[in-house]
Parts: sequence; structure tokens; C-alpha cells
Amino acid sequence: MKLFIGGVRGGRPVIDAEFARYGGDTTSYLIEGQAGERLIIDAGSGLMPIYERLCASSPSTRHVCLLFSHYHHDHMMGLPSFLPLYSEEWTIELAARIFDELTVEDVAHSYINPPFWPVSLEDMGAALRFRIFDDESMERASAYGGLEIRWCPLRHRGGSTAFRIDEPATGASIVIATDVEWSESDQEEREWLRKLATEPSPVDWLLFDGQLDDAEYEHYRGWGHSTWQQGVQLAAEWGVEHAIITHHAADLNDQRADEREQAIRGQSAKARLAKQGELIELIRSS
Ligand SMILES: [Zn+2]
Ligand SMILES: [Zn+2]
Repeated sequence: MKLFIGGVRGGRPVIDAEFARYGGDTTSYLIEGQAGERLIIDAGSGLMPIYERLCASSPSTRHVCLLFSHYHHDHMMGLPSFLPLYSEEWTIELAARIFDELTVEDVAHSYINPPFWPVSLEDMGAALRFRIFDDESMERASAYGGLEIRWCPLRHRGGSTAFRIDEPATGASIVIATDVEWSESDQEEREWLRKLATEPSPVDWLLFDGQLDDAEYEHYRGWGHSTWQQGVQLAAEWGVEHAIITHHAADLNDQRADEREQAIRGQSAKARLAKQGELIELIRSS
């Protein structure tokens, strides 16, 4: 199982040479299973680099599943221009929890529709499937090809979702937890995420919202995000070998990101900041 990082930013994309190395696109990740499964988590502007990766890595694949952690604009803005939606050759599955009594089908239809977009979702061409993660599904894994998907709710403004992806054939496993405010999470929410990361066995990789630094957190309390220090510490507590810190603020330029990454590695040699365009083999630790 591999992780391709399409976009790393929170809030909005940034385009300038000073952001070139860590990347300027907003949140979107691609999980590639060894049997050809293609699972996308979130559809920020980083969905475009993911589309390019889909074309390059598996040109004959015409099926993809998109999971949404939540519907904030930085996690959705790439969806209307996702080219496979315009092709009858593609089957696209959209999957998410219900937020504000709206299913993923409701949200997708209102997001891709006039006056916000010139074409309506149902007129685009691709065959669409919708999957709802209802509350009962939190207790069990659901299958996507040879991959297993588990989830739990996260504390965030309006709510968000963490996903755990396992590939039983190889033992590879990752939890993707963006956007989350750990400091404001209650005991139950903390326990849900701990269980997701450690049961049935600890994952080897944790991708975590570390938009903030401990020193600046108080100023942003209640904004819905965590600190990179919390991400590194939780990975250590839960026995997760590799922490990847993501959802970088729009003002975190490459120079500041280098400094932050150095600080991160000072706390954990195997932790790092997410970099757009990176392809990571999610190897099992032991
Ligand atoms: Zn976000
Ligand atoms: Zn958000």
C-alpha cells in the first residue's frame, strides 16, 4: 500500500516560489492498494496532482473511491474540476458520514451545481455511487477491494472524520486524522481516535493535523486544529512508528517548514512534515 500526497495546505492554496518544496495545494491524499485499489481522501486543490498520478500509475483503471473527512471548502475545491467526473468511462464512488443531516449525495449535488459551477453533477457523465458511513458502521470495517476502511468522528468546527485504512494482505496500515482539535476533544473523542489508531493493532503510520505550533495554539483555540507537537506525542503514546504532520497554514513557507521539520525530527527521528508530491511506501514496521 502506498500513500501519494496530492495537497497539504489548510484553508486555501498558495502559489509562490517560497512554497514550492512543501507544496501549495489544499488537502488531498491518494492511497494505492497493491491490487490496484485507488482510494482518495478529500478533494482539495491537491486533487489535480492526484489525477495526474492516477493517469501515470494506472492508465487503465477507471474506478476510484473518494472519502470525505468533512465538507470544508479546502477539502472540496478540487472536486468540480476532477476530470474523471466528465467521462462516461469512469465509475466514481463518493463516501462520507452524514453532516447537518446532509448525505454525501446531497452535498455533492449542491456543491457541483449552478450558480457555483456551470455543470450539474448528474450531467457530467461518470457513473456515480454513494456510500454513507452511518453511526453503526463505526464499529466495523468496510471493504474496498482488498482494503479495509474504519473511521471515527473528530472534534473540529462542524465535525470531521478520521479514517483508518488497512491492507490485510501486506499488513500495511495508516490513520488519516485531519482536521482535528485535540485540545478541545473530550474524553470520548480522544478514546475513539486512540482505538482507531491501536485496534485491532497499532497502525504504522499516522497522518495528523499539526497546523499549529504549541506556542501559537492559545491564539487559535477553538479554530479546530491541533499542534505538530500533539501529533508527534500521540504517535509515540500509541506506538505508531511514523507520524506525518499535515494541514500546513497558508503562511508556512519552505524556510519556516524546514525549521519546523527540524524541530519535529528532534522529537522523533521518524516523524516529518507532509510534502506535496511525495510517494510513501507504507511499509509495515515489524
Ligand atoms: Zn481543512
Ligand atoms: Zn475543516
